[in-house]
Amino acid sequence: MGERVVIKGARAIVSCDPSDTLYRGADILVEGPAVVAIGPGLDSGGAEIIDAGGMFVYPGLVNTHHHFFQTFVRNLAAVDYPSLSVLDWIGKIYEIFKLIDERAVYYSSLAAMADLLKHGCTCAFDHQYCFPRRAGKRLVDRQMEAASLLGIRYHAGRGANTLPKAEGSLIPDEMLETTDEFLADCDRLIGLYHSDEPFRMTDVVVSPCQPVNCRRETFVESVALARDRGVRLHTHLGEGENAPMLERWGKRTLAWCEDLGFVGPDVWYAHGWELEPGEYRAMASTGTGLSHCPAPAILGGFPVLDIPALGRAGVRLGLGCDGSATNDSSNLLDSLRVAWMMQASRGKERGGCPSAYDMLKIATAGGAGLLGRGDLGSLEPGKAADLFMVDASGLEFAGADHDPANFLARLGATGPVSLTMVNGKVVYEGGRLVGVDEERLAAEAAEACDGAVRSRSPAYSGYARR
Ligand SMILES: [Zn+2]
Repeated sequence: MGERVVIKGARAIVSCDPSDTLYRGADILVEGPAVVAIGPGLDSGGAEIIDAGGMFVYPGLVNTHHHFFQTFVRNLAAVDYPSLSVLDWIGKIYEIFKLIDERAVYYSSLAAMADLLKHGCTCAFDHQYCFPRRAGKRLVDRQMEAASLLGIRYHAGRGANTLPKAEGSLIPDEMLETTDEFLADCDRLIGLYHSDEPFRMTDVVVSPCQPVNCRRETFVESVALARDRGVRLHTHLGEGENAPMLERWGKRTLAWCEDLGFVGPDVWYAHGWELEPGEYRAMASTGTGLSHCPAPAILGGFPVLDIPALGRAGVRLGLGCDGSATNDSSNLLDSLRVAWMMQASRGKERGGCPSAYDMLKIATAGGAGLLGRGDLGSLEPGKAADLFMVDASGLEFAGADHDPANFLARLGATGPVSLTMVNGKVVYEGGRLVGVDEERLAAEAAEACDGAVRSRSPAYSGYARR
């Protein structure tokens, strides 16, 4: 038996369990990493007490698509995603990406993880596909260190691009890897960070970057390795690459992935706004999931994903904030709000839209499903004690407390939360990350960003940091 903690007297607990149970004035008893009971007046004998009076409590958000390394390539008007064509944008942004080194990845990951934790995300997947030759192979290891320091649950997507520019990709040569190099490193990382244990804090996902910038064999062999080692698969799909894929292979990207076996309940893609209704059915029939990343879709001016149609087809969904090159923040509560607003904007023409609570379930239980985490995504006895609390007692929220389930996205409650708990441990509380010197880390991060990225990139000329 681990440490006992009681979250006492919550104004509301939105469980996101299969029955959509909403508790009022209830407690949550936590032992070690797990929730053991939820209900009013639980016996807290000997347990540490967290006063949740006035609080709405939610299961931790699960982020299903991100690129932490991009956190040092943001707030940069010279490479403006909304106003450049995708090709022009890629041409400029990859020139900055290739400057990334180990130190920049460590600190940019810390910055993104801090943002995630402060906004209710307790389990993050990151798609780390940027391995400039000079940066070496230890970038995911540094991310694991960062996650361990802050206490966030971390699933690392080891990505790669393997097709040279000369053969039709958009990737600078400095960022290319061979399929063998990529898979050898996946294998090494799986050995170090993957397990099937419940409540595990790390895992690894084999995640070739995108079909259009990889050799076919990279995808074929990724499937073989992932299935052999029992880990999941992820890639970008349906984000504007179908025309070049048709030209190169005579197939749309999903059909290409189907041919290679890169589909299944252990696979999820990012984006998918270019998918067609027949493709929704194909994905549902194989159990393949989709991470919806609203910020890049709206900043890029892309179609609003048809979540009602995806739901009717039976496609499993999660929410992602995506990297800071196409969404400057890592605030998943903000992505939740944007996702709901986008769906609402199409509600009339589509005959209805998901509720804010539907979107919250996509961001919690949905994301946990994509990551294969039956122990996450809802607040129930036996599941991990991953949760966050929002103070609903302030004057700004008066008049809104009758519906805690829909509260977050409808009200735009997107600011820092009051408390975040991961695996039974408080990792963020009262505006402070627990157990770290945040000022020192922020100063070191700024220095790392200057050293690795800003000082070496012409895109930043004309900007003074302070
Ligand atoms: Zn992405």
